[in-house]
Amino acid sequence: MNIPRKRKSLALLFFGLALNFFAAAQNSYQYTVDLTKAADDKLTVNLVTPAIEKNEIKFYLPKIVPGTYMNSNFGKYVQSLEAFDKAGKKLPVQKAGDNGWTIRNATRLNRLNYVVEDTWDATIKNMVYPMCGTSFEAGKNFVLNTPGVFGYFEGMREKTFQLTFTKPAGFFAATGLIPASSNATQDVFSCSNADHLYDSPIMYSLPDTAIVRVGKTDVLIAVYSPKKMATAHFIAQNLQNLLLGAKDYLGGKLPVDKYAFIFYFNGEQPKLEVSGAWEHSYSSFYSLQEAPEKESIGYWVSIAAHEFFHIVTPLTISSKEVKQFNFNETVLSKHLWLYEGSTEYYSQHMQAWTGIITPEEFLASMAQKISYSRSAMNDSLSFTELSKESAGKHAEQYGNVYMKGALISACIDLRLLELSNGQYGLRQLKHDLSINYGKDKYFEDDSLFSMIEKLSYPELTPFFKDHVEGGQPIPYEKYFALAGVSYIASETYQDFSLGGLKLNPNPEGKVTVGIADVNDFGKKMGYEEGDILVSFNDSLVTNANLDNRIDQLFDKAKEGDVLAVKVNRKQPDGRMLEKVLQAPLFKIERVRKHLLRFMPNPTAEQLRIRNVWLNNHAPVAAAMK
Ligand SMILES: [Zn+2]
Repeated sequence: MNIPRKRKSLALLFFGLALNFFAAAQNSYQYTVDLTKAADDKLTVNLVTPAIEKNEIKFYLPKIVPGTYMNSNFGKYVQSLEAFDKAGKKLPVQKAGDNGWTIRNATRLNRLNYVVEDTWDATIKNMVYPMCGTSFEAGKNFVLNTPGVFGYFEGMREKTFQLTFTKPAGFFAATGLIPASSNATQDVFSCSNADHLYDSPIMYSLPDTAIVRVGKTDVLIAVYSPKKMATAHFIAQNLQNLLLGAKDYLGGKLPVDKYAFIFYFNGEQPKLEVSGAWEHSYSSFYSLQEAPEKESIGYWVSIAAHEFFHIVTPLTISSKEVKQFNFNETVLSKHLWLYEGSTEYYSQHMQAWTGIITPEEFLASMAQKISYSRSAMNDSLSFTELSKESAGKHAEQYGNVYMKGALISACIDLRLLELSNGQYGLRQLKHDLSINYGKDKYFEDDSLFSMIEKLSYPELTPFFKDHVEGGQPIPYEKYFALAGVSYIASETYQDFSLGGLKLNPNPEGKVTVGIADVNDFGKKMGYEEGDILVSFNDSLVTNANLDNRIDQLFDKAKEGDVLAVKVNRKQPDGRMLEKVLQAPLFKIERVRKHLLRFMPNPTAEQLRIRNVWLNNHAPVAAAMK
């Protein structure tokens, strides 16, 4: 499955040179970056500029980029920007805000150069999501999210951008871009405008790649995993099912000819505060903590599914705010329920629909979203208002787009299936919307709901009014019941417990006990505040293995089995003393909240919707398992 590294023919090289010449005549941006000269996590960027017709011009790096819903301020990472005329004479440059520079005598402008620092290691006070940021590790790896490296001139974002990289020996460019030319030391890429440029991340490193062919689409999987804990081959094997499923889910064909999953696994940088991924039209870039692939593949597949489905929303169906994206002002659409919410819903629903996960696992993932959105988020905030202000006053509610946003989509899907007798759901609606708008046409934010009602059912109006524009919490019991699924807000059950302890990691990697909410079993055991766990029934306990140990402990436990917990307890004189606490196990009453469960005796109507919703009779599901 590895891509053989081919020597490019002379003819192709020549074509590359010819293209250079042609591009110059076309008045494009011509960027060159020498990756072999990176030092201190910085790169020098050279630009031969297109001809400027104004005497004064602004040069920008983006303040915000599509799909991020926060201000990144990439201009803050640029240092010592200089402008020159053809004779090499310096032109006056003045900083204009965080992300811009004003260049005077600009009609004479011929080239710019600047130094750019990577966002992952920079010490300046600013926050860029790692999956949208940059990392320049000389000789190892370069994460080039292009908005963090390249800029554009005001009013000139429609010109061609040509990028020439000089690369270290053996390095490979993982990207959705198709190189204009490539040889052992240099790659040249061309982007048709600034939107295309910023939609195209590139990662350079020694290659670990695989290709999956899905119908007519070639999908590249490229991996950088410094400790070799993750491999392109293994991820490709696991993404294959997902991509075949996605093809069926989207009606039998993937909407792109080429796609690249670019995975960076962090095993050598300080731990990144956030891990995640950023979607693009022909690729997605992942910044994840390095971990054993067999343990983490489920999570990686889910996040890959989410990013992949972004090719539908917002990359095909979106409003003016997205399609005519303003890189230098924060103007957001109010339909994050569609861009992020329905994408997240697709990523989970599609896995159930094709049999990659079980229907129960799917319900559990939806229930978790209800729980999170009701316990940690404001469930009464208008969702359209949250979207508009997700980079501003509602930034702390942004996480809800993956929770309630997905649930809004689930409810619309179920309601449509009800109204259409199982004939028309969210998949059909999004298909119709993408035909109606397509990649090059946007909708006005205010017209989306009426367009949906026109394409599908006007009966959706109250749902949009009350639960998407309005702040009324969604009555989940009503919507999930359509498919014979009960929503249970809270229920009690009997189960074993360690004692109702608060378990906190301590600096030595052990676990400290808190007894504020200790239950009857905990009282029997006789824990004291500050006890440090040593072992459960002679199996040593650390913070790292705690969850596993608890699972093992209760897996086969019976009433009356004796639980022995060894703890270290601080004595009045400060010494630590080992103590064994023990008691026969008994079950205690516990509470669980926000559950979704299949009704054991659904009506024929409910069963019919459930079967369509979960594709219960699909031959695909059997083939995929
Ligand atoms: Zn997303």
